[in-house]
Amino acid sequence: MECIFCKIARGEAPSETVYEDAEVKVFKNIQPKAPVHLLVIPKIHIESIAHLHADHNDIIAKLIFAAKNTAEKVGLKGYKLAFNVGRDGGQVIDHLHLHLLGGWQSGGNQEL
Ligand code: AMP
Ligand code: ZN
Repeated sequence: MECIFCKIARGEAPSETVYEDAEVKVFKNIQPKAPVHLLVIPKIHIESIAHLHADHNDIIAKLIFAAKNTAEKVGLKGYKLAFNVGRDGGQVIDHLHLHLLGGWQSGGNQEL
């Protein structure tokens, strides 16, 4: 079956997108584990952190900056960033994604 996050990246599957550019997309997690729980993905398919190559340097930096910028936009003063890596690391979707979690104190506002 085709990768669900590739479909979301292409706009072929629905997502509540809060930020998007040519290389990354940030959207709401459908099963949030925090008041603000967003996922930051590269538009290209990379399976996981364990599958990174040296030429992925730029895209990893872009994911982190997209998370930082989105956290600022939604008003989070503090937050957690997490990559689950492989089944043993809790990864269920095999398309690299950075979890952005926050809002326990401030609430935040995901509605941009
Ligand atoms: P992980 O366990 O790191 O692979 O996390 C995958 C995350 O993707 C889970 O927190 C799911 O709730 C979330 N998720 C799965 N499908 C979708 C979807 N179609 N739209 C938004 N989030 C999703
Ligand atoms: Zn994919």
